[in-house]
Amino acid sequence: MSTQVEPGAENQAFHGGEMVQMSPLDQMRHSAAHIMAAAVLEMFPDARFAYGPPIENGYYYDFELPRSLTPEDFAEIEERMARLMKADDPFVREELSREQALKLFADQPYKVETINDLPESATISTYQVGQFTDLCRGPHVPSSGGVGRVKLLSVAAAYWKGDEKRQQLQRLYATAWPTQQELDDYLWRLEEAKKRDHRRIGRDQGLFMTSEQVGGGLVIWLPKGATIRRELENFIVRAEARAGYQHVYSPHIAKIDLYKTSGHWQHYRDSMYAPIKIDEEEYILRPMNCPHHIIAYKHDLHSYRELPLRLAELGTVYRYEKSGELTGMSRVRGFTINDAHIFCRPDQLRDEFVRVVELIQELYQAVGFRDYVYRVSLRDPADTEKYVGGDEMWAVAEDAIRDALDSIDAEYEEAVGEAAFYGPKLDIMVRDVLGREFAASTNQVDLYLPERFDLEYVDADGSRQRPAMIHRAPIGSLERFFAFLTEQHAGAFPVWLSPVQAVVIPIADRHAAYAETVAATLRAENLRVEVDIRSERMQHKIRDAQMQKTPYMLVVGDREAEAGAAAVRLRDGTDLKAQPLDEVIRLIGTDIREHR
Ligand SMILES: [Zn+2]
Ligand SMILES: [Zn+2]
Repeated sequence: MSTQVEPGAENQAFHGGEMVQMSPLDQMRHSAAHIMAAAVLEMFPDARFAYGPPIENGYYYDFELPRSLTPEDFAEIEERMARLMKADDPFVREELSREQALKLFADQPYKVETINDLPESATISTYQVGQFTDLCRGPHVPSSGGVGRVKLLSVAAAYWKGDEKRQQLQRLYATAWPTQQELDDYLWRLEEAKKRDHRRIGRDQGLFMTSEQVGGGLVIWLPKGATIRRELENFIVRAEARAGYQHVYSPHIAKIDLYKTSGHWQHYRDSMYAPIKIDEEEYILRPMNCPHHIIAYKHDLHSYRELPLRLAELGTVYRYEKSGELTGMSRVRGFTINDAHIFCRPDQLRDEFVRVVELIQELYQAVGFRDYVYRVSLRDPADTEKYVGGDEMWAVAEDAIRDALDSIDAEYEEAVGEAAFYGPKLDIMVRDVLGREFAASTNQVDLYLPERFDLEYVDADGSRQRPAMIHRAPIGSLERFFAFLTEQHAGAFPVWLSPVQAVVIPIADRHAAYAETVAATLRAENLRVEVDIRSERMQHKIRDAQMQKTPYMLVVGDREAEAGAAAVRLRDGTDLKAQPLDEVIRLIGTDIREHR
């Protein structure tokens, strides 16, 4: 995703905190942060510096400076860094008493606060490289020459200790790599990621919007984005119907007691919104669809013969996200899950997982995801206390997932100790063209909710038994999936998903009537067609259609009108020359059917 990875709280205490485990690459990047701070201090001797940890793909350092840094400053900082690295000064560690440290950093309030926050027993150390000394635990590369190739990337506002009530600082982001080639590759990926950013493509193609008047993280799908979503929804609903799912609709709110029974109110409250009072009773915007589906299951007494019962819904949920973390479609406050809950006998879990995986494969094939891995999250056998459900049920559930994957020869990773407290799960991680991993789908066995809701079925001998339950969502959140899909295809969606499958481009005004005829003919075949009647030149219109990633451009002039044809161009530049309209319809129809 295009989300900038913000450092977690674990980085906050980096300087002066306990010695952290750092990979050699992180050590090098963190060392680069020292050198960057040294360069900034050369330029601004009065600067106050806060801390500078490595992060994914780079590092940053926070400063309080007399003026705002601009990208124009980057070249000078990089030049100064290059000189410091060329000097190849050693990183020299020194241990000192609290009093000595407080004296040394007397004019550096962030360092003073960090020192004062250290436990009595802490060893306080500094590292000096060249003229620059920083409070730090290390480790670093041996000398400044050990830092590879660096590049400053951006500057952003950040609060001291991430606290909005504290001083606002300037966070200088940068990256460092062992070789120039690796740096160049990374900068290319960064540039490519910007081009593919779903927020940018969403704006350029008019796919979705957010508005301050509606509220942050509350997405409006514009007609073109809504078309893509509807196609996805139709696809998955039909595939589910073929796979034996039954679809339901349920409301977005319910009484708070429902979520007390489910345990969400107790365990998931940080992600839930405040209750709504209706006629003296408290209701809640649902953060999950499961309780509604469980109530639907309980509506009838089920015989073992009816199982598995698969209740599905494109269910909208609302979860709290901090305003600073809201991002386009990928981090939102309300979203729709392609959800289903499967109620089955424990001995049916394996076959159900096989079917879930087959459904996911069918979906990924259609949307063009080729590179993905299965990850099975298991409980930690050394720490069974923190999980609900007995050993036997865990063994049944974990084996069901493994056996299902084995039976279809799927390779998978096992993540021991990564299971939720209520059951093992199967995640599918899709890798995008830039090598980034995206958790596209989560499928979870639940050993908890059937107990909480006292679910039953009537077995062959007439006894009441507890069903097993699976939460599964091949698409996951439609919003997040859409963001990933957009970036994966760089906005050039497969034809079946393209909001405009063909644009008809009349060469001159006098061809407008024929262009409309062509469009009407294609629309009669349920194709999505627009006519570009602007008074721009033809080449300009073709360029615009290519920018919009429209799969088919149908250019029409005198000759085409006479022949009942259209000159076909594809978005990749391929020129198929004039084709009869029947052939055009056949070409587009084949792409749609084959999900190209
Ligand atoms: Zn350090
Ligand atoms: Zn669920």
